Parts: sequence; C-alpha cells; structure tokens
Amino acid sequence: MNIRETIKDKKRIVVKIGSSSLQHKETGGFDYTKLEVLVRELCNIKNQGKDVVLVSSGAIAAGRQAVHVKSDDNPIAVKQACAAIGQARLMMIYQKIFAEYNQVAAQILMTKNTIIDNLNRFNAQNTFSELLKLGAIPIVNENDTIATYEIEFGDNDTLSAIVASLIGADLLILLSDIDGLYTDDPNTNKNAQFISVVDQLTDELMTMGKATTGSNVGTGGMSTKLQAAKIATQSGADMIIANAEDIRILHRIMDGREYGTFFKAHKDEDFYLADYVNQLE
Ligand code: GLU
Repeated sequence: MNIRETIKDKKRIVVKIGSSSLQHKETGGFDYTKLEVLVRELCNIKNQGKDVVLVSSGAIAAGRQAVHVKSDDNPIAVKQACAAIGQARLMMIYQKIFAEYNQVAAQILMTKNTIIDNLNRFNAQNTFSELLKLGAIPIVNENDTIATYEIEFGDNDTLSAIVASLIGADLLILLSDIDGLYTDDPNTNKNAQFISVVDQLTDELMTMGKATTGSNVGTGGMSTKLQAAKIATQSGADMIIANAEDIRILHRIMDGREYGTFFKAHKDEDFYLADYVNQLE
C-alpha cells in the first residue's frame, strides 16, 4: 500500500501551527480567514471520529499586537506579559470559531516541568485522555507567561512532538511556511531537491535542516522540525511537514494525497519522554 494511504486510518492526530501562519506579515494582526479554515478543517477531522489536538503558537505575537509592542529584542518580562494578554485573545478567537462548528475547545499550557516531573506528567496525560474522551479539542501552547529559560521548551515544533508522544498520537502534522524538507535551503539554493518521504532520520538528514526560517515570528526553523521528527517517530507517530499557505492542505493530507514531507514512524521501546525532555538545552 502507498504510504500516504495509511494516513486515512490514523486515529489520534496532533496538528501544529506557527505564529507566522496565523498573522498578516504586514501588520502582525490575526489572519481570520486562515484561523477559520484551520478550525473548519480540524472539526472535519474530528467529525470523522478521530481525536484531534491543536498546538498553536501566536500568543506572544497577539499580545504584542494588542499593546503595540514592537517585536525586536523584548526583555523576557515584556514577552511574558504579552503572552498573558495574547494567549487569552487567541483562545477567545478559537473558542468562538470552534463553537460555530459545535465543538468544544480546551486550553492546556505546558512547561518542561509538566513532562519531567512524574506526577505532573501523569496528571497531564490523564487530562488529555479525559478531554479526548469527552470529545473536546485540546489547544496546547507553551506556558510562555511563566516559562523562563530553565523550564521552557523554546519552540512549538518540539512541544507538539512531545504532546504527540505523551498522548500516544499516531500522526503529527507540522504546518509551516515551507513545503517540507529539501536537500538544502530552497531560499538560497535553486538546486535544492524536495524530499517526499523520509524513511530513516540519518545524521546526514539531520544536518540538512537549517536553523533558519523565512519569517521573523515564531521560533522554529528546519532543525527544530527535524528534532520534532525524531521525538515523534521514536514515539511511534508518523510525522508530516506541510505548507500552511493553504490550510486546506490538511484534508488533502488526510485523504492520503502526496503533500509535504512524510517521516515514517520507527517506535523505539527505549525512548523515554521525561529523560529526553530533561536533557533538552
Ligand atoms: N509559544 C509561543 C507563542 O505562542 C511561540 C513559540 C513558537 O512559535 O515556536 O507565541
């Protein structure tokens, strides 16, 4: 069977979307069209009887926009204050659009401690499991308001893979501002080749990812996406990186069509999430 066809049978899906895909480049304001399409696509997956979890960035960006703070070089307290303002706004918008489709959204904010501490991790796992049983759609972000260097994941690519691992998801979709993995940075090298399927995450592949991104918001470049792929695939989830330019790409992927780069799962029984997160820089 074509590997893309296997997507149709996935039962528990985590979708990650970055700040740059949710806001207008020119002004930093929310792109409501994209938000609406995203929510509609997620509700549609949900209506196929699948569990859906959304990992959404955009809190800090939304907060900055609300209180007119420029994005460069904010001290940590300013970022945290902006996150407090923006996270609430972000959820307000999600709640509103999900409600239009008769779905219930829930908020989960996490730090590294949520995973490292056994009791916290156990509780978080139970909460996810209960929310999914209740038919809610958990919306996850880093708890940017309290997360300082020591306890922050730093980027939502990593966070989304950690969530996928924690809840035993069988698919993680990273929506990004790039089509997928190339042999080199396609912005600077015209000969860069697109890679459709990655069977094994070799060292060579890991170095292909560049820590750059075309956008000036969000924190994830290709290297964080490859790290995410390591976590997800070792935990037993397939992962896809796809372009969020047209968010309807989600149902095309779920229909088994060939979009984005597909990373095959290779479950590693020795992969232990808490240890992995503990050694993250
Ligand atoms: N958690 C941050 C936010 O919501 C973004 C982190 C990221 O984009 O990777 O603003």
